[in-house]
Amino acid sequence: MSDDFDYIVIGSGAGGGPVAARLAEANHSVLLLEAGGVDDPQKQNWNYKVPVFHGRATEDEQMRLDFYVRHYEDEQRQEQDPKYIVERNAGRHGVYYPRARTVGGCTAHYAMIIIRPHDSDWQTIEDATGDRSWLPREMDKYFARVESWHIPSAPASGHGKNGWLPTRFASVLGLGRDAIRHLDPSIGEIAIDAWLANPKELSIHWWDRPFFPIAAHIAAKLDPNDLRVLKRHGVGVIAVPMAIDQKGHRAGTRERVLAGTETGRLELRTHCHVTELIFDDADPLRVVGVRYLTGERLYRADRDPNRFGKTTGAAQEVRAKREVIISAGAYITPQLLMLSGIGPRDELERAEINIPVRVDLPGVGRNLQDRYEVGIVAQAGAVFPLLKSATFDCPTLDQPDGDEYFKEWSTGGTGLYATNGAVIGFTAKSSVAENDEPDLFIFGLPGSFTGYYTGWCLDAVAPPHDKWTWLLLKAHARFRGRVTLNSKDPFDPPKIDFKYFERDQNGELTPESKKDLQAMRDGVRIVNKLLEGVRHPLPLHPGCMEGVDLETDAGIDKFVQDRAWGHHASCTCRIGAEDDPMAVLDSSFRVRGVKNLRVVDASVFPRIPGFFVVMPIYMIAEKAADAILADAR
Ligand SMILES: Cc1cc2nc3c(=O)[nH]c(=O)nc-3n(C[C@H](O)[C@H](O)[C@H](O)COP(=O)(O)OP(=O)(O)OC[C@H]3O[C@@H](n4cnc5c(N)ncnc54)[C@H](O)[C@@H]3O)c2cc1C
Repeated sequence: MSDDFDYIVIGSGAGGGPVAARLAEANHSVLLLEAGGVDDPQKQNWNYKVPVFHGRATEDEQMRLDFYVRHYEDEQRQEQDPKYIVERNAGRHGVYYPRARTVGGCTAHYAMIIIRPHDSDWQTIEDATGDRSWLPREMDKYFARVESWHIPSAPASGHGKNGWLPTRFASVLGLGRDAIRHLDPSIGEIAIDAWLANPKELSIHWWDRPFFPIAAHIAAKLDPNDLRVLKRHGVGVIAVPMAIDQKGHRAGTRERVLAGTETGRLELRTHCHVTELIFDDADPLRVVGVRYLTGERLYRADRDPNRFGKTTGAAQEVRAKREVIISAGAYITPQLLMLSGIGPRDELERAEINIPVRVDLPGVGRNLQDRYEVGIVAQAGAVFPLLKSATFDCPTLDQPDGDEYFKEWSTGGTGLYATNGAVIGFTAKSSVAENDEPDLFIFGLPGSFTGYYTGWCLDAVAPPHDKWTWLLLKAHARFRGRVTLNSKDPFDPPKIDFKYFERDQNGELTPESKKDLQAMRDGVRIVNKLLEGVRHPLPLHPGCMEGVDLETDAGIDKFVQDRAWGHHASCTCRIGAEDDPMAVLDSSFRVRGVKNLRVVDASVFPRIPGFFVVMPIYMIAEKAADAILADAR
């Protein structure tokens, strides 16, 4: 291939990977530039492939990108978070926020949970822009285009059968078989007890097909992605849908990209970090290409400064005959725009930054959104027999075939290691839910999970295996943070301030923060009910939950404000109306005021979508490909 391409895509994550593959399939030449690498085909990266190792994947040396962020500007408030203290004591200023630098981006370490977004996520964009192609029923087709659902379902469920992403529920049968083999009723008992304590069921009725076979009806009753459940704003007990292929391997955009390269029109260049956009000499608002540097780990987001890499040559330039698409994620996409002079004037003209303004777009880097999440860890009566012999480790010299679960996974693609750990889930509505849509997502897993800090992945599965975590996620949290430059060095990570639970000048929580806190309080109360169960109450784990009071409102409020975290950073270059000064993109993903430039990743949403972001990003990537191809005709 020559060094002139129809399209250049920056970043191969959830947004960039699918859009690049789709453009190549439509007969265009595409260059995909990725700062990270891909596995040596001679060596197996088990952390990537084995679903239960998703925690290890976040901390994998080859793939990890370690950001350190602030939840609060106020130091005293920030200090209350035990995760911050851990990092600060180790000389890392902030709360660890895992990202990935590898082919597939964060889908190389995500927990593979696939949830259909809420209707209001799309309606918000239609309302703001008047573009009817964003209407929820229009967007349904993109869900079906992405998905290949491996469970029998009715056409009315809206599932896709022929998409590029294999999806299914976790291997419950395999897990059940393992539990029976280990004489372990305990995990199932906790799940059933929780269900009995909160016996709400999704809104699939007896008249909804399929009723026969009965197994398919039960599957539909547990399926949060069934379109009928979404339309009816149903809540209740769920099985957690995951992106796992038939062999029990993780499935993400890496597979999509590698399949796309087989067209011969998609060229993937790894270890290439794009540092800036190139503009036409005659038209300073027309993007014609990008400049990048080659080398491993050039971007200085790593917990260990000794690992920062060195460039392996001079800057390279490549040209796009049609367009450049930025898909570098919610932190680096706004950074790249700002480095190229596209962003808030006051930010670019700060004395320490001093980047000439090409387009004054005040919304770049603003509107940062995420979830509020908390993990509530309980003490089980005894070690779970099922987990007694699980090492949660890759094969070692002593055990070259791995432990018994690894063998089951590698031979049959089933069992404990073919899951992400989630056993059962619930969706619920808090008392402040908007649009009558569920806004709480709760799921239970054996192990302890209290958020991200370096080393979290080993603690989460460390013996004794007698801990159970209920994880609570708040959809559509109302805080709005900001990404700003620390310097104009393209390898210097930006400053990331989430502005959790904002307060007014009198130190009072703002009305929006009060609502979020109320929603989390409602969620914790539901978790309390699940812990009480009906037969086997589980107490809080004395170590993991030391000093935590979840009985009183004040105790819950403190717990949530001290310990909440998120891992779905989004919305930093949002789509919006023409007359909205804070809109960065139009409804076809074009960067305002610039020609031949689009953004396609988690940054584009005006409001963080639903419960999980990957499926919404896959959907907008497909939509963006349609928009780009329509303009090319
Ligand atoms: C631990 C964890 C678990 C998660 N689990 C789930 C889950 O189960 N379900 C779910 O829906 N979501 C999950 N998420 C969130 C989800 O994975 C991400 O939000 C999503 O992948 C973001 O997609 P993106 O395209 O915006 O960016 P990314 O996927 O981060 O992709 C950006 C890519 O751009 C590359 N890049 C960046 N800068 C440059 C540059 N200058 N030049 C070249 N390349 C560059 C990066 O290396 C990366 O590959 C999880 C996130 C984390 C951290």
